[in-house]
Amino acid sequence: MSRVLITRSLIEGGTDPLVTAGHEVVYPRAEQRDVAPPHDELVRLVAEFDGMVCHLTDRIDRPVLQAGHAGRLQVVANAAVGYDNIDVAAANALGVTVCNTPGVLDDTTADLAFLLILAAARQSTDAEKTLREGRWQGWGFASNLARDVHGVTLGLVGFGRIGHAVAARAAGFDMEVLHTARHTTGHPGFVATLDELLERSDIVSLHVPLNDSTHHLIGAPELDRMKSTAVLVNTARGPVVDENALVTALENGTIYAAGLDVFEGEPLVNPRLLAAPRTTLLPHIGSATIATRTRMAQLACQGVSDVLAGQTPPNIVSAASLSQ
Ligand code: NAP
Repeated sequence: MSRVLITRSLIEGGTDPLVTAGHEVVYPRAEQRDVAPPHDELVRLVAEFDGMVCHLTDRIDRPVLQAGHAGRLQVVANAAVGYDNIDVAAANALGVTVCNTPGVLDDTTADLAFLLILAAARQSTDAEKTLREGRWQGWGFASNLARDVHGVTLGLVGFGRIGHAVAARAAGFDMEVLHTARHTTGHPGFVATLDELLERSDIVSLHVPLNDSTHHLIGAPELDRMKSTAVLVNTARGPVVDENALVTALENGTIYAAGLDVFEGEPLVNPRLLAAPRTTLLPHIGSATIATRTRMAQLACQGVSDVLAGQTPPNIVSAASLSQ
């Protein structure tokens, strides 16, 4: 039997693959399972475990991995598909396997991207605020006028699992769908440069991982290339967008609106963004449905269980895939 650290609660049934395999599942705070250990406590604790299931909010850097490796740590599974919180290169060098949760959250996250596309383009957040604050004066022919979603051009930055799922939904809205990525995809709608995609799109939705090549991928020069009527949606990771540049663009009317699920300094939100016009802001709920979170937890735990059984799970992340 192996010992597996769960940094913070998952969901009911989430640890089933570990429990069924007979592993001991340990929470750092037995009485407060939803509280993650601070980084220094994690460094102290990790050597006592064979495996760890962590969250995107846990910083699994070289000190954590070295401490684990000096003990008995074999595998770390992130209960998320993005793994920018883990130093994968350090893990690979130390021989600690890293897993994530690809594939099981694509549709749920794509649904939320579409929610933001609709909310930002139709300005439903401001309209609802007017109603809730008792400022609604009644139906008005020229009130709450916003922008159409159907029939426009949607530009997807990143065309992997989630990008494909968003494109599938766009078909129902009669959209023209463009996409870009570092490599030619061979799919219709591919444009070779981000600049061209930004210039042609009415709605731009981001679906790239956060890494060195995507940090502030959308900054002031990119926002300047977008249409003044355009909507930017970010369900990828906060630092993919330069938030201060985005606020300036919204204030100046450089672009029309933004819908964001992720933020540069989560859980803190830039006060300028909170005050910016025409924004819909959600607290990182892209994959937050019961069914999907259950699948994510079980996939992460299954990865740990497989590695501890000497098997190679399908959801392994390698540093090589980062630089491809
Ligand atoms: P994926 O299947 O790996 O797709 C990523 C896409 O991004 C690929 O098309 C990749 O193609 C492209 N890409 C990578 N670097 C790029 C760059 N510099 N410029 C342009 N394109 C680039 O990933 P996924 O499963 O769709 O997930 C995408 C991200 O969504 C995750 O990493 C995660 O951070 C985020 N996410 C957020 C939530 C949420 O709750 N809001 C939920 C799920 C996922 P090339 O390699 O050819 O460039």
